Amino acid sequence: MQFKSLGDKRQVVSLSEAVFKGLADDGSLFMPEEIPALSDEFFQKLPGLSLPEIAFSVLKPFVSEDLSEDELREMVESTFSFPIPLKPVNDRIHVLELFHGPTQAFKDVGARFLSRLMSKLHPVTDKKMVVLTATSGDTGGAVAHGFYKVPGIDVVVLYPDGKISPYQQNQMTSLGHNIHAIAVDGAFDDCQRLVKQAFNDRELRGEVAVTSANSINLGRLLPQMVYYFQGVARFMEQNGQQPPVVCVPSGNFGNITAAVIAHRMGLPVKRFVAATNVNDVVPRFLKSGNYDPKDTIVTLANAMDVGDPSNWPRLFELYNQDTEQLKREVAATVVNDGEIKETIKEVFSKNSYLLDPHSATGYLGLSRQLKGEETGFFVSTAHPVKFLETIDAVLPAEAEKIREEFGDAFRVKGTHETMQNSYSKLKEYLLKM
Ligand SMILES: *Cc1c(COP(=O)(O)O)cnc(C)c1O
Repeated sequence: MQFKSLGDKRQVVSLSEAVFKGLADDGSLFMPEEIPALSDEFFQKLPGLSLPEIAFSVLKPFVSEDLSEDELREMVESTFSFPIPLKPVNDRIHVLELFHGPTQAFKDVGARFLSRLMSKLHPVTDKKMVVLTATSGDTGGAVAHGFYKVPGIDVVVLYPDGKISPYQQNQMTSLGHNIHAIAVDGAFDDCQRLVKQAFNDRELRGEVAVTSANSINLGRLLPQMVYYFQGVARFMEQNGQQPPVVCVPSGNFGNITAAVIAHRMGLPVKRFVAATNVNDVVPRFLKSGNYDPKDTIVTLANAMDVGDPSNWPRLFELYNQDTEQLKREVAATVVNDGEIKETIKEVFSKNSYLLDPHSATGYLGLSRQLKGEETGFFVSTAHPVKFLETIDAVLPAEAEKIREEFGDAFRVKGTHETMQNSYSKLKEYLLKM
């Protein structure tokens, strides 16, 4: 399988190039050159397959020119080593819990698979390989854990000193080994600027192979397809043969893009719902036909606070950039902060199920969109422990229980390395590693 640039479609690269470059030379995203259909035999066996077995079959066509079957098997076994359960919330709605990974966020799977890909595919050189990334708190933990102890790769995560929660800080600083989390004396934007400067520094790149692990990387996107094979298989097991409506709480639209690719490979899904918070560029586009990105608005579901979703061109391309075609399969709906709080409260009191703000967006999006006899599932992208301030505000007794359960995670531990907000300091650090 080769991968094409969405800009200049003649630019075709190998998996390895797509993974290490992240973006094509023309600045566009990479997409698989084609989407293979899985066999009838696979779908017959699907209900009995384990997660690593599903992942192996689904990912194989994309990586078979670059990895041996044994290598792929080892990668999916170590990536998909935690459960992804489907649970009923009420008689029409199920939830697929994606938060049982090491940082309680769905990004764990993508980060883990990418790290293993990079470790397997990186060319043998004497240059040190460093994944360099800036975080405002949430994704840094998934990347740090994803690359933890992965041979041949060091990770440097920059985060704004004092501006992330102790819980988030612990997820990055308590690891050690090849994970270097550094508190920068500045804001998130400063961290991002330092990272950009490093990527543009030819002298540095002559010495150190710096690479990024951000969410547009195909190595993070592709393994997310596995969620939907798992979700649909479990759903049909529990509910008979009607394919589900699937709702994905969306920010950069990577997760829902993976879901649609899974459907193209043959996975039965009735239709999709993309649920956003008030950063609603896509829902507005589907209404007006006008793609009009806006500045980001801060919401309770802040991992989805995205004004101009980076994966949107991929999703649109899957429908040949035809809005009508897309709307036949994908609906979009907007959930505001008041509705998020209301939903968390209501679903807990009616169904004893505790949602985090992102998952609440997914739940409400699905329940609004189900018509007639339709049933379906939404994906839960984070454990409530990660967004405890909101749980505190609506269900304080539940927040307290979580605090007791996770106790230790809220006290700062681990070493806390700091750095001045200065590029020369970062460069010195990277060269000395
Ligand atoms: C990243 C993230 C999302 C959004 O996923 P996209 O692929 O960017 O649409 C939703 N919820 C949580 C908790 C996230 O971390």
